[in-house]
Amino acid sequence: RKLGIALLGLGDYATHQLAPALQETKHARLTGIVTGSPEKVPTWQEKYAIPDGNVYNYDNFDEIADNKDIDIVYVVTPTGLHDEFSIRAAKAGKHVISEKPMAPTVEDCTRMIEAAEKNDVTLQIGYRLHWEPYNLRLIEAMKTKEFGDWKSISATNASRMTNFTGLNKWRIGKELGIQGALYDLGVYCVQGQLYSAQARPLRVTANHSTERKDIFTEVPETYEWELEFEGGRKAAGMASYGKSGNWLKVETDQGMIELSPVYGYGGQKGSTPEGPMDFPHVNQQALQIDGQALAILKGEASKVPGEMGRRDIRVIRGIMEAADAGKPYEFGKFLY
Ligand code: NAD
Repeated sequence: RKLGIALLGLGDYATHQLAPALQETKHARLTGIVTGSPEKVPTWQEKYAIPDGNVYNYDNFDEIADNKDIDIVYVVTPTGLHDEFSIRAAKAGKHVISEKPMAPTVEDCTRMIEAAEKNDVTLQIGYRLHWEPYNLRLIEAMKTKEFGDWKSISATNASRMTNFTGLNKWRIGKELGIQGALYDLGVYCVQGQLYSAQARPLRVTANHSTERKDIFTEVPETYEWELEFEGGRKAAGMASYGKSGNWLKVETDQGMIELSPVYGYGGQKGSTPEGPMDFPHVNQQALQIDGQALAILKGEASKVPGEMGRRDIRVIRGIMEAADAGKPYEFGKFLY
């Protein structure tokens, strides 16, 4: 059986990545849409054969509870709205996939997790790289200590953005509770640092900077941080809408594991101490959604549960705290 998915928030990512990917999935299919933009409805209905009864807006969305065609609601709105819509979907008895980063605060994430638990549905995050072969190769090597333990990690996700009008406006504003590139791009670095370290950080030091002060009036353009792990080992990170760079590098006992570029929808390159990696291109979004649907169908634990999303938000909030305070932020105990 294929699980029915409703996409909620028909912006860039839903339109150009998720809906096309849902034409390739084996365990899920696009059966519904939820949108605040009625003008988008006819095109979507026609293109993906979505019946009238499976089209919702943000006012009547809760009626989705009675719709047997829809098993999963995939929330693809701006990050600051993931919590509200994920909680409403859970209350309607639907499984939830929330895009990354999960939500502005740890408390928001906790409310999402609790809503899913209370309504007996699953909550997963759209962390597509957990189905990407180059990243998977690195994760496997770090889990098995194939090249020994790690000594240092460096993760950078930076891309110079120049268009901040229209839909992109929410990305550099404070209104929705997020912090620019640190959330949008930095969450990939935090993910990479943690799946490389296979451990939780003890503390973080951080700073932020802004070159284009006329554009970045509400959130910093660039964040840099250093996570410290047991034994004093460090993982450097950088996320920026002003600079450029796309890598995850891990120094191990036996040499470097290097992925660059690493975070995109394709085009990954990489090497281990054994030499270059060479994997075929995959549709990450299709594999991710299939993996998430299969976890639901089989009643198995997700690779990318809400708890992982919350863990990453904890790290991001720690980075913000450390940068603001100008001194290390101590994480204390991690729950996940
Ligand atoms: P976008 O701005 O193109 O789309 C957001 C959609 O939400 C729009 O259709 C917009 O109309 C709708 N929306 C609903 N309420 C809104 C409000 N109050 N303000 C503004 N828009 C509102 O953004 P996007 O690039 O599609 O990103 C959406 C989410 O997906 C974000 O959380 C983003 O981080 C995530 N994303 C993930 C990936 C990935 O690789 N996993 C890639 C891109 C985006």
